[in-house]
Amino acid sequence: MASLYLHIPFCEHKCIYCDFYSIAPSDGLARSELPTGRFLEALKKEIELRSTTGSAGVSYETVFFGGGTPSLLSSQELGAILGHLAAKYSIESNAEITVETNPGTVNRQKLQEFRSLGINRLSIGVQSFHDDDLQFLTRIHSSQTAKCCVREAYDSGFENVSIDLIFSLPSQTRDRWISNLDQAMELQPTHISCYSLIVEANTPLFRMVESKQVSLLDADTDAELYELTISYLTGHGYEQYEVSNFAKPGFKSRHNKSYWDHTDYVGFGPSAHSFSIRSQHAEGPERSWNVANLSDYCSKLEKGQLPVIGMEHLTIDQLIEEEIFLGLRSEGIDLSSFRTKFGKDLMMEHELRVRDLLETSLAVVEKGRLRLTSKGYPLCDEICASFLS
Ligand code: SF4
Repeated sequence: MASLYLHIPFCEHKCIYCDFYSIAPSDGLARSELPTGRFLEALKKEIELRSTTGSAGVSYETVFFGGGTPSLLSSQELGAILGHLAAKYSIESNAEITVETNPGTVNRQKLQEFRSLGINRLSIGVQSFHDDDLQFLTRIHSSQTAKCCVREAYDSGFENVSIDLIFSLPSQTRDRWISNLDQAMELQPTHISCYSLIVEANTPLFRMVESKQVSLLDADTDAELYELTISYLTGHGYEQYEVSNFAKPGFKSRHNKSYWDHTDYVGFGPSAHSFSIRSQHAEGPERSWNVANLSDYCSKLEKGQLPVIGMEHLTIDQLIEEEIFLGLRSEGIDLSSFRTKFGKDLMMEHELRVRDLLETSLAVVEKGRLRLTSKGYPLCDEICASFLS
């Protein structure tokens, strides 16, 4: 399995908490002045250049448009990108093709056009069903717009619709978070990602917290809301298959799983990362990342160069650490594949630690995998750290 990721670096407006690379009209540009045409030409060039390095014989199972706000692009623009990809890469006929969608950037007609391009999954950034939360987060849409977007997605022929929600917003109560989950259930998304509010450095939110303009919830309340999320969603027919991700049967994100399963992915666009476990390089599997600056990205490609700004080759120890970390965060560590890959028996190497996890019901061994339980997921970071120490 292998995946393709495209980072579309434009937003209508920068949300106060976000540190993903994107530019917005408020960065001194009018919306019509966003350099979309230059970016799309550069992206086409990158698709061509990367296809000549190592993609022969590889079949791609997922395509993910992230960002930024890829739904800001027109369906003609997205269609042109998909056409360039299909001309250079072997994309499976049943590939999962996802577009991250911001409510307020699409209407029914645009969604129908997306669907007719073969896009078969939407990941909609709802974040909250409370308008005051959305205003605090400086989202561009209201709760009503978000609900309308999800309904129109289904009406436009999408059968696989994911929504993102954020919990632990300042002053959020248990009842208010339950109200968000209740409203989500009315829309019946096939997949839900729930993230705790993270304060990233160099964001307006970070400065607001530093200057005490905003107070965050304490760690105990955050943990309580997270545990509530797990019990609520698993009680409503969603399976938790990663720390923050829940899916109805048959709707786990294949793209997400490819990252967690350590399979190859090729990333295009400013700030995108690529990973090749199959890399033939003597120093081991390769991870590389593109420059996080649109102008530099375009300039490099206009000169016929890949916009790669950093690269590392993973050592066996790094690979083992990542295998443990990614496995425990998601659907568990495949014990037989771990033995085959690394010549080590995880259960024996960490005998006491594993026994403790099993005895306290924080983990189980199921279908040959050591995986965390609903009780273990909230402690995932500490458990991973204990394996890696
Ligand atoms: S719309 Fe998404 S990518 Fe853009 S600033 Fe907001 S959170 Fe970040």
